[in-house]
Amino acid sequence: MKLVERFELFKREKEAYQELFRELEKGQKPWAMVISCCDSRIVPELIFKADPGEIFVLRNVANVVPPYGIFPSVDAAVEYAVEHLKVQELAVLGHSQCGGVKAMVEGTLETGGLFKWLESRARQIGGICCTKSAEKLNVKLSIENLLKYPCVEKAVSEGTLKIVGLYYDFANFTLELIE
Ligand SMILES: [Zn+2]
Repeated sequence: MKLVERFELFKREKEAYQELFRELEKGQKPWAMVISCCDSRIVPELIFKADPGEIFVLRNVANVVPPYGIFPSVDAAVEYAVEHLKVQELAVLGHSQCGGVKAMVEGTLETGGLFKWLESRARQIGGICCTKSAEKLNVKLSIENLLKYPCVEKAVSEGTLKIVGLYYDFANFTLELIE
């Protein structure tokens, strides 16, 4: 299996990582959380030049943050990062050529898990004509929901957490702030 073979290649780099991972055995202290799409072309650790232990990453299809209390997996990850790990920065990272957003814009989601996951967001961005605008609006809507998570609201009001929406165009190497 290719994954296992690739791990064997990684093991050859053990020397370079051993000290870092020994240190991380004591615990993780990431300074940022990134909520990203699952898309294989989007690699938060790579583009933010982060070592293991620096960024707490939640990935899901189309980097969606639903309203609080609906999908416990998202609630749990955000609460863990904000309340326990006390990250100082939290970003929702949208991206170019997002298949999830494209499907929402084109209305091609009909049944199954993808439909369940994206149906309510699709209602909000389905009317947008261009995928790029929808990708950016999708980040904005995630940020709006995120700001209503109780732990986020508290940390932002106390000044210990900064929230940012980002739009990454991978082919053009650009990163745009979404206000
Ligand atoms: Zn995507």
